Amino acid sequence: MNDTVLKGRRLAGGTRAPKTYSTERNCAKVGCETRLSRYNRREHCYAHAPTKYPRLRGRIVKNES
Ligand SMILES: [Zn+2]
Repeated sequence: MNDTVLKGRRLAGGTRAPKTYSTERNCAKVGCETRLSRYNRREHCYAHAPTKYPRLRGRIVKNES
């Protein structure tokens, strides 16, 4: 008579992988296998990050040969 006691329901749906963010991202540069930190929101590794050229008064400094 006491069949309606609530018990913990078993999770239905089988073994569905939990939704996770990718924790193993690689550099967006093709061929580069440098793994990015999951905390690194950039798409490239340090070596392939967009280069910031040193600028002097707004001009790109060139190496004279
Ligand atoms: Zn890279």
